[in-house]
Amino acid sequence: MNSYQKEQLEALQIIRSHMAVLKTELLHIIEAPLKEYFLFRSQTDKFLSDHFSRICSLSCYQNRLSACCSKDGIITFFADVVLNTLSSSEAELDRIEAIIKKPNTGYKCVYLAPEGCVWRVKPIVCQMFLCDKAEEDVFGKNPIVQEEWELLKKRKKDFIWPDKIVLFDQIESIFIAAGCSSTLMYLNKSPGLLRIKRQAGLIKK
Ligand code: SF4
Repeated sequence: MNSYQKEQLEALQIIRSHMAVLKTELLHIIEAPLKEYFLFRSQTDKFLSDHFSRICSLSCYQNRLSACCSKDGIITFFADVVLNTLSSSEAELDRIEAIIKKPNTGYKCVYLAPEGCVWRVKPIVCQMFLCDKAEEDVFGKNPIVQEEWELLKKRKKDFIWPDKIVLFDQIESIFIAAGCSSTLMYLNKSPGLLRIKRQAGLIKK
């Protein structure tokens, strides 16, 4: 396993080993933002399916024509892994662990299986990624669709951008309070994101 695979596996294993204890707390404390997030995700899915399914096909990934899924180290937030864990069966999570452990040939994402992405709720970075060709094709013909996309991108920030209390930080904080630590906890470890929290008065100077 390379270092990316190791940190992915470590985060997933930490989350799985604490989920039995933290699940009730998680669902209680973040019930409202969680519902809002899943609504946002299903609205984004619908948008992508309505406007991009014609272009973004599985064969595009398989032919390596697309930039999506062709990077071996896509950014995943700790909260992405938690949200996917909450939405997946134990068998699905076992499969993800097994896939992470396999040697990666390097030209594609470690999570890309022959049938597509193995995540049930794929990372937010992936959900909001559109390649230039797809954007040109769709937005070039329909600026109103582009406006809709810009609104979805703005809403994404409400969950991950820590200039206020956001779901992704709340999730990290619950695991940190339980004694967990992961390099994927960017909202509590990335100097840039910590600076934003400081500027917003969410943490001490
Ligand atoms: S996590 Fe899934 S959607 Fe994201 S790049 Fe990997 S295979 Fe593609």
